[in-house]
Amino acid sequence: MKISRISVWRKTLPLRKPYWFSGGRLKVDSLDSTFVRIDTDEGVQGWGEGCPWGHSYIPAFGGGMRAAIELLAGTLIGEDPRDIGRLNRAMDSCLPGHPYAKAPLDIALWDIAGQLAKVPLFQLLGGAEGDSVPVNSSISTGSPEEMIALIEAARAQGYRTHSAKVGGEDPDLDIARIEAIEAARAPEEFITYDVNRAWTPDLAVTVMNSVSARGWFEQPCETLDQCTRLRRHVTQPIMLDECLHDFQDHLTAWREDACEGVKVKPNRLGGLTKARQARDFGVAVGWRMHVEDVGGTVVADTAALHLALSTPAEHCLASWLCQAHLIDDPAPGKGARNRAGLVALPEEPGLGVAPDEAWLGEPFAIHESPAP
Ligand code: MG
Repeated sequence: MKISRISVWRKTLPLRKPYWFSGGRLKVDSLDSTFVRIDTDEGVQGWGEGCPWGHSYIPAFGGGMRAAIELLAGTLIGEDPRDIGRLNRAMDSCLPGHPYAKAPLDIALWDIAGQLAKVPLFQLLGGAEGDSVPVNSSISTGSPEEMIALIEAARAQGYRTHSAKVGGEDPDLDIARIEAIEAARAPEEFITYDVNRAWTPDLAVTVMNSVSARGWFEQPCETLDQCTRLRRHVTQPIMLDECLHDFQDHLTAWREDACEGVKVKPNRLGGLTKARQARDFGVAVGWRMHVEDVGGTVVADTAALHLALSTPAEHCLASWLCQAHLIDDPAPGKGARNRAGLVALPEEPGLGVAPDEAWLGEPFAIHESPAP
């Protein structure tokens, strides 16, 4: 079996509401998503989606993804799609780094592998650890009243875990936000305070040692070293996200005792192959994890949630569905969907969801030539 063609689509995905985070220094109102379909000479097709959260969140952007795919396609066409590990190494040799650009290609290879094996992806990734995955809401930065209103709306949709985006230059405002949210929290609810690296270490020490919240604080400072030093001065558990770009960063975080948990995101790490490696490492060292993607439609969400479902429950905190923030839906009713705060995965072979090609429209590019 050989890869015969790689088709690429670009779609702009408007958000339902503009989204503010990192103390208001970052704002996103639409996402630039890239869809990939890998065709084989035996008729099997695999789908993947790569969707950075804007272009200022992590070192990733849609234009870079599509340019990199043009280069990477030459290393894949003519190769056997079942050789996923070898093809990942070939992509890394062709273009070191740029993990986000490789993610949709890797996910499409896994979709093909699942279809050939006639099993849903969660089985190839380790097997279901339950019936469903809990999902958390994502609460944009605002005044304490605005954030509590968003949490109440999410609660009405069944969410019981919330990721509240805080962080800014005014520690008093962050303390007020956190204390107000804690006071409004229902007894069975969990809140993660996601700072998105907005605090300098001194602000982080001030805020975290002033609040009553004893749950997770996520990516409080910019760098891995800053978060590691901070951890020695606070009592709350720390979750790392944006400062983890590859497996080496996970290894460093563990060796330096930087955190109690990490976010595992296929689009940040380079696809399901590398996200699974990070997930398995996290299980081995006893971390707690959120397994979800950086952004995208139900296609990206479903790929990440297959990995979440195959993660032991004691290591898997709630995941997140980006689709909840989007106006458009390329596969209504299909794939990973929120049902009162829980998500079941499709039982069809492979990814179990594909975008409607009429919705996708004309391809951005079609790559058919093997590498010279
Ligand atoms: Mg985060």
